[in-house]
Amino acid sequence: MLAQRESLWSDLPAPAAVWDSQGQLVLASTAWRSLGLSTDAAPKELELTFDDPPRIFVVEQSTQPSGLRIVLLREVTRERQALQAKDELLAVVGHELRTPLTAIKGYGQLMARQLSTVQEQVQRLDGLIGDVLDTARAEGGRLALRREPLALSDLVNFACERFCVTHPTRTVERELGARALIEADPGRLNQVIDNLLSNAAKYSPPDTVITVTTFSDSEWVRVSVTDRGVGIKQEHLARLFDRFYRVPEESGSGPSGLGLGLSIVRDLVEAHSGRVEVTSDGPGTGCTFSVVLPVMLPLENAPTPPEAVNSADR
Ligand code: ADP
Repeated sequence: MLAQRESLWSDLPAPAAVWDSQGQLVLASTAWRSLGLSTDAAPKELELTFDDPPRIFVVEQSTQPSGLRIVLLREVTRERQALQAKDELLAVVGHELRTPLTAIKGYGQLMARQLSTVQEQVQRLDGLIGDVLDTARAEGGRLALRREPLALSDLVNFACERFCVTHPTRTVERELGARALIEADPGRLNQVIDNLLSNAAKYSPPDTVITVTTFSDSEWVRVSVTDRGVGIKQEHLARLFDRFYRVPEESGSGPSGLGLGLSIVRDLVEAHSGRVEVTSDGPGTGCTFSVVLPVMLPLENAPTPPEAVNSADR
């Protein structure tokens, strides 16, 4: 019976061994012995690895009430190899997928930058074409206006808001004291204010403040844009609103332009029965451009326009 049991154990296809409560080996399967495992004591490890050929076993143990300690090794080589192969596959696939993605991302960013340059240039070209067309319209007496009653301070305030969005680093101080309705084409008047604001930004250092004021009496409203920029020599002031007139560069190359913007400003303001003015104390002192328009209706009790704020306070 004992011999039969021993033969049964030795034929067991799995590595297994049994120790009694005194730690004496009772039985060890042939598979156990063929792995060269010790029969002195049960292994303490939870997992055993053999190098040649590579094999991995999970150690499973149980102790019987009689004190017999049964140890069985369960081979997990295939599962581990499959897991490792899956991990390697994932790492390779991940790496291979990331390589083109990195390239696509890089080119995408490059294209986005180039696209914004294209958009800027399209906008610039659009502005220049608009100026040329407006000049042709003005020359042909075809500057049609769609007039409506407008509160000048509100229109100027919105123009400043728009400017602060497109020029987030510039500071614009507003003192909008005019209380009057004028009869004007809002699109065209916006064009006038936008032009004066963009010139102020163009011809003054980025860290200087631009001031916008409105003022009214019973007959006239005035909107002024003051910058602390390059300023203008006295001798050029009279010609500034002429078509294609640009102040000659004294040093280096300044901002580019066609010299049409201010002539269109003058045309539009005159079409509104108003006038334009410019003052400057000379080079380096900045300058003030003003637009004066006739009042349609004074608004003595009108609500106060928004407080003067600047983009730096946002
Ligand atoms: P441009 O497109 O050349 O700016 P403008 O008609 O708007 O044309 O202006 C005519 C010229 O007036 C400019 O070339 C510039 O020399 C001068 N100018 C306009 N605005 C200012 C300003 N705020 N400060 C100094 N010079 C200005």
